[in-house]
Amino acid sequence: MNYEAVIGLEIHVQLLTKSKAYCSDNAEYGGMPNTQISPITIAHPGTLPKHNVKVVEQAIKMGLALNCEITRINRFDRKNYFYADLPKGYQITQDKTPICTGGFVKIKTKDGDKNIRLTRIHMEEDSGKSMHDQDLNDTLVDYNRAGVPLIEIVGEPDIRSGEEAYEYVSEIRKLVRYLGICDGNMEEGSLRCDANISIRPVGSTTFGTKVEVKNMNSISNVKRAIESEIKRQSEMLERGETIVSETRGFNALKGNTFSMRSKEAANDYRYFPEPDLPPFIVKDEYLQSIKDNMPALPEQLYNQLKNEFALSEYDTTTITEDKSTALFYIEMCQHTENYKAAANWLLGPIKSYLNETATEIEDFKMPVSSIGQLIQLIDEGKLSHSAAAQTVFPEMLNSSNYNPLEVAEKLNILQTSDLGLISGIVAEVISKYPEKVAEYKAGKKGLLGLFVGEVMKASKGKADPKLVNAEVIKALES
Ligand code: ADP
Ligand code: MG
Repeated sequence: MNYEAVIGLEIHVQLLTKSKAYCSDNAEYGGMPNTQISPITIAHPGTLPKHNVKVVEQAIKMGLALNCEITRINRFDRKNYFYADLPKGYQITQDKTPICTGGFVKIKTKDGDKNIRLTRIHMEEDSGKSMHDQDLNDTLVDYNRAGVPLIEIVGEPDIRSGEEAYEYVSEIRKLVRYLGICDGNMEEGSLRCDANISIRPVGSTTFGTKVEVKNMNSISNVKRAIESEIKRQSEMLERGETIVSETRGFNALKGNTFSMRSKEAANDYRYFPEPDLPPFIVKDEYLQSIKDNMPALPEQLYNQLKNEFALSEYDTTTITEDKSTALFYIEMCQHTENYKAAANWLLGPIKSYLNETATEIEDFKMPVSSIGQLIQLIDEGKLSHSAAAQTVFPEMLNSSNYNPLEVAEKLNILQTSDLGLISGIVAEVISKYPEKVAEYKAGKKGLLGLFVGEVMKASKGKADPKLVNAEVIKALES
């Protein structure tokens, strides 16, 4: 039997606000345990929540970027459950009125672009963090994370493979980083993905029973977990077994999923309206001001690079992977018209330098205008590409002298395009090898390289090879 997978993802995005979702406690990641907790975070009796307008703004930005409808009257609900890391005994969330509905994520597949539809995006708060491995006998709880704002992006079951899920999560991570609303770090848990997976016989139009897989700490593990789950479910059906609705974890070392809890005993969350928070009304002017201040999105920059600078698919995709890199590239193009060379410099020497020094493009000290000048020196034949990339560029960074002409002069590696000088050397070389000249004239054209090489050597590598080539041919054919 051939099976088709049906996959829907739920993604939690931890928002980059200064303070928590419903109080002013510090929401920053990484503080000493239980140092970012006021009585409101730990839910002392009598404490009350209030709105954080930045949470709403960031949720709306995400919705606009994903073509969603924005809900104007936002109500809040309590999702009740008991667990040690949930101080209030409930989580404030949006049950009936998610801030965003509809919309889609466009992903690239081997068969072209595909839209994965979204069900909803709602705002909610995170729980604290239980630590089961810090003490021999007890579980410890850190409440710093309790109340940190999240949005949950719920996708329609439109995904059909681990590969498509990989593209989908990558797209969302790129987008939250472009928008500056989340650092997108899956290892630290600021982006978390639950995958709902079912399979059905190819051609069937009804859905099979789904299994929810949690605890993947990287995008490639999301893909691996889905692929191993599809395999497990197919094998079960082949053996005539029934798939049970359950929550499973992913073991990244073994590459397989394991049962955590059955959905039969699913929690009843007893949702009811949060009585302590008034509805948050999104007015026209407020929505418009967010639209007016939207930063450039990946697709816009992708189109700009492709159309304005005529870059290849590969260069465009690689450069727009990250917003700072794309903006850096666009700035480079203000200083050169050789757009292809600019892309090569960015993806070649600059990227290698950033990798080697473990720095970000934001910290790159060399002004973009200097790279423009380097490209110009090469295009004018004053500097060979290899000398520019291997010698001048590193020396500029080393010495913090960002004038490439000065640096090349100091290193004495400027190429000469002085025709008089070059033709003089050419004449000397040719007079040194009369028999080789005769062989060349008799048809042994391969000897051209020998003459060019000799001229280059005599010029100490400083003659412009293009000119040397032309001059040697001229002299030999005369
Ligand atoms: P639950 O109440 O168990 O969380 P939902 O209906 O809210 O389930 O769906 C949660 C996620 O599961 C959504 O992303 C949705 O696309 C996905 N989903 C729903 N049904 C299926 C299915 N049969 N197979 C795979 N994914 C599914
Ligand atoms: Mg779910």
